[in-house]
Amino acid sequence: MTDITDITDTDTATRTSATGTADLVASLRAVFRSGRTRPIDWRRSQLTALRALFTENRDAIADALYADLRKPRFEAYAAEVDLPVREIDHTLAHLEEWLAPEPLAAESLAGLPDGTTAGTHYEPLGTVLVVAPWNYPVQLSLVPVAGALAAGNTVILKPSELAPATSELLARLVPRYLDPEAVAVFEGGVPETTELLAQRFDHIFYTGNGTVGRIVMRAAAEHLTPVTLELGGKSPVFVDRDTDLSVVATRLAEAKFRNAGQTCVAPDYVLTDPATARGLEVALAEAVHGMFGDDPQTSDAYGRIVNRRHFDRIAALLDSGTLVFGGRTDRDDVYIAPTVLTGVRADDAVMREEIFGPVLPIVEVDGLDEAIAFINDRDKPLALYGFTENETTRGRLAAETSSGGLGFGLPMAHLRVPDLPFGGVGESGLGSYHGPHSIAAFSHRRARLDVPLS
Ligand code: NAD
Repeated sequence: MTDITDITDTDTATRTSATGTADLVASLRAVFRSGRTRPIDWRRSQLTALRALFTENRDAIADALYADLRKPRFEAYAAEVDLPVREIDHTLAHLEEWLAPEPLAAESLAGLPDGTTAGTHYEPLGTVLVVAPWNYPVQLSLVPVAGALAAGNTVILKPSELAPATSELLARLVPRYLDPEAVAVFEGGVPETTELLAQRFDHIFYTGNGTVGRIVMRAAAEHLTPVTLELGGKSPVFVDRDTDLSVVATRLAEAKFRNAGQTCVAPDYVLTDPATARGLEVALAEAVHGMFGDDPQTSDAYGRIVNRRHFDRIAALLDSGTLVFGGRTDRDDVYIAPTVLTGVRADDAVMREEIFGPVLPIVEVDGLDEAIAFINDRDKPLALYGFTENETTRGRLAAETSSGGLGFGLPMAHLRVPDLPFGGVGESGLGSYHGPHSIAAFSHRRARLDVPLS
């Protein structure tokens, strides 16, 4: 599958850091080696400070997100302040428990001298690099940073240059709240990231598209550095016949059209039978009207496309299938109306790449077997959603397909449950994080065996 792009916006200036990258990495590594970041008290103090960064700067964060994405304030608070704060609170509440060494049961020590004990414990990796995207530029920068700090590492954060107001805000706030010798924000675009990637890190955590994911993994291979790749893809939604279509449409529209569809786990397309498709088209029109009124362009609740390059890319996908509603575009305002297309075929442009915008195609299938085959003919998606009350159908979707996450009934909600691992599989990513899974991502699980001398 084509990747959504390695587009960089020519409208957006990149900034170069004055600090030499090699010196920066060396200084963070020296702090790690001094042992400062290992004690749980230090980790707790950083997480508490990070929490304060969010709660004391809610409005500045929402302002930056408005400047970068016209992100509606309630969306900014919910996704980029409240969700990370919940993640931090959950981590603070469980940190000792998650870090506790795990002893092995005695029976696995058979044949070793009496008194032998064994188990595993987490140790921090060292100095980690977090490379973040522009679509949730606060959450997707600072939730990984929280995980890296909870695991006892030093961190360099490279925010996305395509969200410049947010990048600048993070560069200003992070050193004011977090230990400036252990956490650095390094701003810039491709040249700066390339320079960073040439350094040796102990882990690289990348969120973005698969093209750059491959660049990151190649650079990491030079140093045998482990990576987490949080990528994207086309996340399908199966809508069964005989479901309550007004509930389905409301939940589908919420997940698809918030942030103008620029969400990695947004439903990408719908698979359903022709009769259900007809009902869903009507219900979606009502749901979208309920969210944004007669003219979404004038609604405070509707965002914009991040830049003109992405606008052009998405606008070129509108010429697929039959328009149900939407389709209006305004390039000067980087506005694309919430749009539903129906009768879309597998080879239409809108089905050939991740949409990452406010366009929802409906592809007709004659039932579950064809839907499963359609999903399995494509790359493994980041998420797969189902609307069905039928247990057998749920079971078959779970057993006969693969995806990073699987959600029935409420698309995107799985990412709000911190104890669920969040990540992709195959083309949609490698590794996972959130809650205890962030500790695992940013740690080495060390084996320990203690044999008595007498
Ligand atoms: P982006 O363009 O902001 O790129 C992400 C990061 O990669 C940025 O920090 C950027 O500076 C860096 N980068 C870009 N080109 C580079 C290069 N040639 N070499 C080195 N670094 C480079 O964001 P994007 O990729 O447009 O984001 C959208 C994609 O990310 C979609 O595919 C989406 O599904 C995916 N995504 C995934 C998740 C997830 O959690 N799995 C979350 C958000 C977005």
